[in-house]
Parts: sequence; structure tokens; C-alpha cells
Amino acid sequence: MRAVVYRGVDDLRLETVPVPAIGPGELLVKVATCGVCGTDLKKIHTGSHSAPRIFGHEMAGSIVRVGQGAKGFAVGERVVVHHHVPCGECYYCRKQTFAQCAVYKKVGATAGFEPSGGGFSEYIRVMDWIVANRGVVRIPAGVPFEQAAFLEPVNTVLKAVKLLNLAADETVLVIGQGPIGVMLAALARRTGARVLTSDLYPQRHAIAAGFGLDHPIDAGRENAVERAFAATDGRGADAVVLAVGGTALIQTAMDAARPGGKVMLFAQTQHEKASFDPGAVCMDEKTLLGSYSASAAILDEVADLVFGGYRNGFDLTQLISHRFPLERAVEAIEIASHPTAGSMKIMIEPVPGAGRE
Ligand SMILES: [Zn+2]
Ligand SMILES: [Zn+2]
Repeated sequence: MRAVVYRGVDDLRLETVPVPAIGPGELLVKVATCGVCGTDLKKIHTGSHSAPRIFGHEMAGSIVRVGQGAKGFAVGERVVVHHHVPCGECYYCRKQTFAQCAVYKKVGATAGFEPSGGGFSEYIRVMDWIVANRGVVRIPAGVPFEQAAFLEPVNTVLKAVKLLNLAADETVLVIGQGPIGVMLAALARRTGARVLTSDLYPQRHAIAAGFGLDHPIDAGRENAVERAFAATDGRGADAVVLAVGGTALIQTAMDAARPGGKVMLFAQTQHEKASFDPGAVCMDEKTLLGSYSASAAILDEVADLVFGGYRNGFDLTQLISHRFPLERAVEAIEIASHPTAGSMKIMIEPVPGAGRE
């Protein structure tokens, strides 16, 4: 089969590799589509993980082989595969911080080499503990693969929004309107809160408007901090979500929050140093918090949102700007790595058009 193999920092190659063999309790899934995620890009560009690997973890496809004893699954079923699941029993799981669980950190979906998701290929092997612990989710009829592939990113976003505990009389500022920023803002809006969205590109605000986000801030010409103050009688936003990576906008996010408000770092996926005003946390009582990866506690709610929302105001395929065949995956990842006005969510499909089925 064809697969995009990570061979080292910034070195991706389209190669022919064996279709993975499966064992008892495992599934073989034919990939229909796989989203390119910011964390894939980080791994490719920083060399944080050893080579070789096959990345891609936002995948949906069809079961083509069922290992002996893999209960409840049949060939032909359309599914989304989570590449990791928590144990549900360790100290971290009991504290609902599933992303820190040792079992969760172990990846259980692979297209070969060190398991790393494997979605940027034609077939993936889903390991037994993923199959047994709700890591494989059936897609209802009428929902295309590419909507279903948003299950994992929506989970990560909903988890973050829940941490903010928003109320209907509150104002939220979401900085960055890439696909994740739009999802964060759309889910924040569902709590009843007023949501301001900031981005440099009008094209992104136009997409956000499709999700009912009607307080756009043109970051190229307007000051997001001033807009947050103007919208709140000079207090500042109750919550600010930073959906732009790096450290440059952390201070802006802190400045835009009201005293006692919250600042959520959602895109700061690298360990590095950043400076911030400690007095804003101590004296102004602003809370700095973060959220990473998915939560096993909200699987059903996320499935309702993604599957039920397809024809009900939450059509996430609107966020897709590019669909590339596997043969052009290197180019797809290049575009995803250098976002422009016209690029949003980028999907890789082994068979062109399969994601829309
Ligand atoms: Zn992801
Ligand atoms: Zn655990």
C-alpha cells in the first residue's frame, strides 16, 4: 500500500509499505480520509519523535478485516478510529486528566513502524485495547467520513470550552480563526456566551459567520484588546482562548481578559519559555489554564455533536479548504504548515472523493 513515511525532520516520503497484519481482537481499517492536525505538523517539523513513522490520527474509514474475538464489529462498517484511549483506572484517569494517563500516551493505531496513528496511508491496524475500550466509533448513515473525522478535534475543543465554565452573560474572545479557532468559538457560543473572534483574514471570518459567529475582529486593523474592553463596559473578556501557536500572543490574551477572568492556552504545544505579567495572575486574579488532547468523559456528547450536528448547524466540512490524494500528501502538509487566507482544514484521502461518502 502507499503511505507517507516520516523519515526525519521535514522529511516525508511517499513510499510503498506492507498492508499491516492484524492479530486477535484487532481491526484493519481502510482509510477514507484523514485530517492534517497541528500536532502532526509539530512532530514533522521539530523532530520530537523518532523516525520512521506514519502519522495522521484524525481518520475515518471502513472495516475491511476483523481479528478473531474483536467483538461487536463487522467488515464493511464505517468507523472513526481514536489512536489512543485512556485506561480509566489510574490516578490521572480518576482525576479526569486522561491525556496524562500512561496507557493513553501509548498509540494503538498504526500503518507500520512505531505506532503513530497511521492515517496518512491506505490501511491502518487498530490494536486490541483500542477496539475493546471504545476507541472505534461507528459512523451513522448519512454522515460523511470527513465530518466524522472531526470527532477527535471536536473532543479536544469541547473539553477546553467546558474547562472555561462559561455562562450566558459572559463574553469570550477567541484569538485565531483557523479550523480549531472556529470550532472553539462555535462551541463557546453554544453555551449562550457572546463570542468575539479575531483573525487577520476576512476569508476566515466569512467561514466563522457560517457557524453564527457574528463579532469578527479584523486583527490586521483593529486592536482585539480594545474590542474586548469595548464589548464589556471596559472590564475585558470573561475568557480568552488563544488558538494561535507560539508565545507572541500570550500577553495580548492576558491583557484582553478581565480581572478574575480566564485565559486558555490551546495551541501552545511546545515546551519553551514565555514571559507574562505575574501581577496579572496574582493581583488581577486572572487564571491561566491549558487544555490538551481528548477526554474520554465526553465521548457520547461529542458523537451527538459531530454526527447529529451534520445537518443541524454544525457541518464541520465547511472548515475543509483542501482535499489532497495520498500521492500529494507532502504538498498537503506543506500547505498546512504555512497557513494562508485560503487554507483551513486540510484532508488527505487515499481515494479522491472518498471522504465525502
Ligand atoms: Zn489532532
Ligand atoms: Zn489511566
